[in-house]
Amino acid sequence: MADLILKSGNDRSVLRRHPWIFAGSVDRLEGRARAGDTVLVMDSRGKPLARAAWSPESQIRARVWSFDPEQSIDHAFIKRAVAASVARRASHPWLAGQDGVRLIHGESDGLPGVIADRYGAMVVVQLTSAGADKWRDAIVAGLVQATGCSAVYERSDSDVRKLEGLGPVTGLVYGEMPESLTIVENGVRMEVDVAGGHKTGFYLDQRENRQLTGRLAAGRDVLNCFCYTGGFSLQALAGGATSVISIDSSGPALGTAARNMALNPQLDASRAEWREDDVFQALRNLKAEGRKFDLIILDPPKFAPSAAHAERAARAYKDINLLGFRLLNPGGILMTYSCSGGIGLEMFQKIVASAASDVGIDARILHRLSAAPDHPVGLAVPEGEYLKGLACQV
Ligand code: SAH
Repeated sequence: MADLILKSGNDRSVLRRHPWIFAGSVDRLEGRARAGDTVLVMDSRGKPLARAAWSPESQIRARVWSFDPEQSIDHAFIKRAVAASVARRASHPWLAGQDGVRLIHGESDGLPGVIADRYGAMVVVQLTSAGADKWRDAIVAGLVQATGCSAVYERSDSDVRKLEGLGPVTGLVYGEMPESLTIVENGVRMEVDVAGGHKTGFYLDQRENRQLTGRLAAGRDVLNCFCYTGGFSLQALAGGATSVISIDSSGPALGTAARNMALNPQLDASRAEWREDDVFQALRNLKAEGRKFDLIILDPPKFAPSAAHAERAARAYKDINLLGFRLLNPGGILMTYSCSGGIGLEMFQKIVASAASDVGIDARILHRLSAAPDHPVGLAVPEGEYLKGLACQV
């Protein structure tokens, strides 16, 4: 095993149990290591601190597997970590009975670069770091053993793999592909396209927020912007919404939304209208038509993947929130989200506040929203908190 020696004074973040070792804090590598190999991390005086996965092409030069420098990183270690992560979900009363649940959430579950989502009997795995990629077999074996699933599909096609020098890897890695896959979330059946859908097929992180939408929707005219496959829309219908207009620019996503509507005959499809459109333009058109709503959901894609994009992203968030506030009836609620890692909660709240003040209205926060508890945030990894939302009433 090669030794990774940190520069003098650069051991603080490892001592605080942060798993990332940036290129700038590495003094040298003693010995040879290939991408994904385990290295022993030492401070500048040669004191062992941790064992980590080496990633020579990434700015995140190593990711810590264990802060115990004596811990050997092998098949058994990875399988134990997978089992522990799965067991944490099983012990949470909100998560234990879910069809769709994130089983492993990367760094926050002690498995840097590993994402695993379960949809019924199928598990989808996404590996985004050199270390995770190296331990694919152990991760898959651990997931099969811990869940008893009948199939595992790999969706390692995220762009962030490029930063690690890794190409895309997708396809079935265990078992047999079911002909179609659906899950039930809060009483609503949803199709999950693990091969072609966004992320691993579904936005599990919004599960509790979709449930809240259902509880707020009774008797309201609802507008769901960036609706994807209709998750918020169907929860609003289930909650008794009077009408729901849903907008997305993706034809395939709206195709799935139409199938989801049909999968739920208990819901009144005549109250739902689906529009394939650009939200920025559609909001202006609705304003011009004089339309008003009682509940508006804005769940846009990541406008700012990193802090470098924050300024442009801030303008886009401001724009849609301003248009959203304009379309609300008195007493109406805006549920607005950002999943941009580059925009913190404080900044997001400032953007939403300035949108309201530009419109010239008072609004107050009823609910502060975040990702569901199967997307935990490691206390040592606060930057893992990417999804934030505000439910504001005017
Ligand atoms: N709320 C959804 C997830 C939204 S993901 C859920 O709970 O499942 C973001 C969506 O925004 C994607 O479906 C994408 O197709 C859509 N999108 C991105 N840019 C858009 C634009 N300018 N106008 C309309 N839709 C857009």
